[in-house]
Amino acid sequence: MARYTGPVCKLCRREEKKLFLKGAKCFSPKCPLEKRQFPPGQHGRTRRTKLSEYGVQLREKQKLRRIYGLLERQFRSYYEKALRIKGVTGENLLRLLERRLDNVVYRLGFAPSRNAARQLVRHRHFMVNNRPVDIPSFSLRPGDVIKVREKSRKMELIHASMRKMKEGRLLPWLELDKANMAGTVLEIPGRADIPIEANENLVVELYSK
Ligand code: SF4
Repeated sequence: MARYTGPVCKLCRREEKKLFLKGAKCFSPKCPLEKRQFPPGQHGRTRRTKLSEYGVQLREKQKLRRIYGLLERQFRSYYEKALRIKGVTGENLLRLLERRLDNVVYRLGFAPSRNAARQLVRHRHFMVNNRPVDIPSFSLRPGDVIKVREKSRKMELIHASMRKMKEGRLLPWLELDKANMAGTVLEIPGRADIPIEANENLVVELYSK
């Protein structure tokens, strides 16, 4: 599946918000947003126009799409799936995005960013329920166990990321067994258990026009 390969810090600057797309750099003074809190481009610093209602909805959608590293078509298909599920569409959308294998690998602390998680999954470093899975969009269900493969257990990238995983950062719908380099999805997360600062309802408003 295609993915965005351009400069990622520009994406944060465009949204004028940290989207945490680069792992450790995002928490350091090297983060470009620390110094340049204005959109990229020649007129980024000077051109400030009040956004229309559509503009606000569009920016919210772009922000969410960029956080999960998806292209427009992939993101829209998640919205369409969310529409078909009972309940609040915006929350369904977030739940579907959170249950992606690359996101869960990142949330468990096996990778410093979703981008890195995606690459690790693609390179077959993980198993789901004892079977190798190399599909970043693989949708996990409660009870699924994600494990680092035997051959990948010495990878410094995974260990460095696990060391940085702060106590208490683990989400309540996930369980981590550090010793065995494995994690379990305990339940489908509720909105309160998804630490994403975005208004998903604006995305639904945008797409339902
Ligand atoms: Fe965004 Fe991280 Fe780049 Fe900062 S370092 S602009 S948070 S991707």
